[in-house]
Amino acid sequence: MSFNSDIKIVTNALNKFYNDSVTRKKQVINQEKLSDIMTNLDLEHFSKNGGLKGSTLKSFLDTYFSYVTRLHHPNYLGHQCSAPHYSSALGTLINGFANNVSSIYEMGPASVSIEYFLVNWMLEKVGWKKAPVDFTNSHHESDFGGGVLVDGGSIANLTALIIARSNAVPNVWKKGNPTNLAILVPLGCHYSLTKAVGILGIGARSVYYLDVDKRGAIIPDRIPEAYQQLIDDGKSPIALVANACSTAVGVYDPLDEIANFCIENKLWLHVDGAHGASALVSNKQKNLLKGVEKADSLIWDAHKLLQTTSLCAAVLVRNHKHLDTGVQVHQEASYLFHEKNQPGFDLLHRTIETTKSALGEKLFFVLGSIGEKGLERYIDKQYDLTLKAFRYIDQLDDFECPVKPESNILCFRVYGDDKTQLDIRNKLTTEGTFYITTVIFNKRRYLRLVFMSPYTTLSVVKDLIAEVLAIRDSLQSKKEFKFTKII
Ligand SMILES: *Cc1c(COP(=O)(O)O)cnc(C)c1O
Repeated sequence: MSFNSDIKIVTNALNKFYNDSVTRKKQVINQEKLSDIMTNLDLEHFSKNGGLKGSTLKSFLDTYFSYVTRLHHPNYLGHQCSAPHYSSALGTLINGFANNVSSIYEMGPASVSIEYFLVNWMLEKVGWKKAPVDFTNSHHESDFGGGVLVDGGSIANLTALIIARSNAVPNVWKKGNPTNLAILVPLGCHYSLTKAVGILGIGARSVYYLDVDKRGAIIPDRIPEAYQQLIDDGKSPIALVANACSTAVGVYDPLDEIANFCIENKLWLHVDGAHGASALVSNKQKNLLKGVEKADSLIWDAHKLLQTTSLCAAVLVRNHKHLDTGVQVHQEASYLFHEKNQPGFDLLHRTIETTKSALGEKLFFVLGSIGEKGLERYIDKQYDLTLKAFRYIDQLDDFECPVKPESNILCFRVYGDDKTQLDIRNKLTTEGTFYITTVIFNKRRYLRLVFMSPYTTLSVVKDLIAEVLAIRDSLQSKKEFKFTKII
C-alpha cells in the first residue's frame, strides 16, 4: 500500500494550502466555470484510468487546492462553517479510514463512547443532567438528559421537532398527524425550521410567527397574544422555537422569559442554538443563553463555532426519554438497555439516519487537543473582534449597522440602495479579494460578515471597508456615466 508515501504528499499539500491561506498569499475564493474545473482536474481521465497517486496525486492536489475556498484565510468572512482546527481534521481522517459508525455499538465502540461522552459534556454545559455511563435499572426512571450527533443543524432541527411532535401526539407514528398541529417560531427563524415543518406535514399555514423587536429578537410580552390566536383557531401547538442566536444578525432571544411562558403553558420549548450555543463554553458569553436549562430541546452545531469539521451537530434534550421514544415507531425503552446483551449503547433509535457517521471524532480531537479553555479563548476572541469591528464600522460616515452584535456575526450597509450592496458583494467574491455574504433584514439588504477564521484581525476589516468604498465609488461613477449618456 502506498499509504505512507501518499499521506506525506497529502500533508505537504495541506501545509501549503494552510500557509498560503493564513498568509493571504492566495486569494480566499477562486470560482471558475464548473466545466473548466472539471476539465482542469482531469476528472474524466482519472475515473477511466485511475492513477491518482504519487507524483500524479501531487500535481492533482495543486490544481484542486487552486479552486478550494479558503476558510482559514483572514479575508474569509462568509458562511458559518468553521475554519477547523487541524486536530479536528485529523479526527475526521482517522475515522474516515476506520469507517466505524455510531448507530450500533458493535460497529464502533470507540466512536459511540466518544459520542456519548461529548453529549454528556454538552448536556453539562447546558445545565442538564448527564446521562449515566453504566446502565442499570435504577436509571430508568430518573430525569437525565440525552442527545445524539447528527449531520448538521437542519437535520438536528428536524429531529428535535419530530421529538416535540411525538411528545404532543404520542400515537402519531401509528395514526399520523391530527389536522390541527401548529408551531410558534420567531419571524426570521432559520429556514430549516420551516422546511422541517413542511417535512412533518404540519403545513405552512400552521406556522405562527412571533413578533420580534427591531433587532429581530422575540418580544416575550407578545407571546401570549400569538399563543391565544393559535388556541382560538383551534390549533394544538407542538412547540415554540427560540433562536440562540439568529442566523441573520446573530442576536439571542431572551430565553429565560420565553421559557417561563412555556413552562406555565406546558409548551415544548425548542432552542435553535445551531450557531450560538457554543457561547455556553465561554464563561464570559454563556449568560447570552440564560434560561436555556429550562428548555426541552436544544440543537448545537460544533462545525460552526467549535473549530470542528463539517458536519457535527448535537440534538440535546433535557429528558432523555423524549429522545428515546420520539424518533421512531419502536417505543419500548427496554430495547435500549437490555434486550441486547452488550457492554455499550446503540444510537440508532435516536436518529433519522440508519448507518450514522461517527461524528464525535470530529469534535473530540479538537477538544482533546486544545481543551475547553482553548475553545473558550477562540470564541471570546471572535466575539470580541466582532464588537470591535462594529465599533469601527458604525462610526464611519457612510456606513450603518442594523444591530449591535452579540456573537461573531456583523451586518452593515454602505450608503446606497439594496442593489449596491449586492453588487459590492458580487464584485468582492468574483475578484476573490474577500468572501462575505449578504442578508435581507428588516426588509433591507445588508452586507454580512461572520468572523470564523482565527486569523482575521481588525486591520483586515479596515482593508475590507476601504475595498467596499472603492467599489461603491466605482459603481456610482459608472451610474453617473450612464446617466449622462442617456441625457
Ligand atoms: C446554521 C444554522 C442552522 C442550520 O445548520 P446546518 O448545520 O447548516 O444544517 C439552523 N439554525 C441556525 C440558527 C443556524 O445558524
